[in-house]
Amino acid sequence: MDGQAVYFDGQTNRKHSVVLRIADRLEIVEQDAVVAVWPFADVRLADGPPTALLRLACTSALPLARLEVADEATKQAIVSHCPLLPQAWENRVGEMVDRQIRFFIRGNACSAPEGQAALATLVGKLKSAGGIDNAHEPLVLSSKIPNAFALPGGKIYVLDGLLEKAQSPDELAGVLAHELGHVKHRDGMRKLIHDGGTSFLIGLLFGDVTGAGAVLFAGRSVLDASYSRDAERDADAFASQAMGKLGRSAAPLGELLLRIPGAQAKGISTILDSHPLTEDRLEALKKDQSPVTGEVLLSNGEWRALKRICRP
Ligand SMILES: [Zn+2]
Repeated sequence: MDGQAVYFDGQTNRKHSVVLRIADRLEIVEQDAVVAVWPFADVRLADGPPTALLRLACTSALPLARLEVADEATKQAIVSHCPLLPQAWENRVGEMVDRQIRFFIRGNACSAPEGQAALATLVGKLKSAGGIDNAHEPLVLSSKIPNAFALPGGKIYVLDGLLEKAQSPDELAGVLAHELGHVKHRDGMRKLIHDGGTSFLIGLLFGDVTGAGAVLFAGRSVLDASYSRDAERDADAFASQAMGKLGRSAAPLGELLLRIPGAQAKGISTILDSHPLTEDRLEALKKDQSPVTGEVLLSNGEWRALKRICRP
């Protein structure tokens, strides 16, 4: 798509009215000539006071080069393509919402050592298959809600209610791989930017937004807000690929999700609320008939220990 923006080239103070061409990179076009190209991976939020404008910098451009975007559709297009925030910021947001999440969920961390070891084994295999090194160790909480989620920064929670529904290591592995896909694509952060706006996030980080309210909002967004259709499709594709590399299939993920009570059952958010199970998604998962040639991901003993992690 094409959008409007104001461009500062980093050399002079002059404002340039430009067109942004958003395809597989950000092309800055002035009077039909491309004056700069910003690769998506290099685009960051520029530091500065909270504002309704999306202010951007680029790690591979001149240090003072900036883009200012006012138009909502253009902002959304940029947010959906660019990582925007350095990983360290994302980790910080993750830490801030973590405590809030634990308050919402009201579950204790289950830490039976054998179960924890089995979970670490499972996630370790998925992380190496998916080429992920930033995700923290996962944790099971004793809540009976069937849900699992990844925080910005990569921490992954599985609730015991979901673990109870899982009938095989591959079903749980599918969920974990899907969440790791969101971690890899930094979707949690995108969702937060989408729901709260960039000025909200900057406020959260610099303390300009009243702390409690902002963190509360961020916590609810992580738990309840739905990922986009595209994010879901990409996280499933990531799961299929990671499971395929391990000689397993992502089809059991679909089977597990079908056993979860419908969205908003009893006013409680289940995994289906934040990860909507569309017909397309289910079809794609069913079609993942990769031949199961790899070793089992967990031994029977490990799987039993994991299932009982909250009731050792
Ligand atoms: Zn998802």
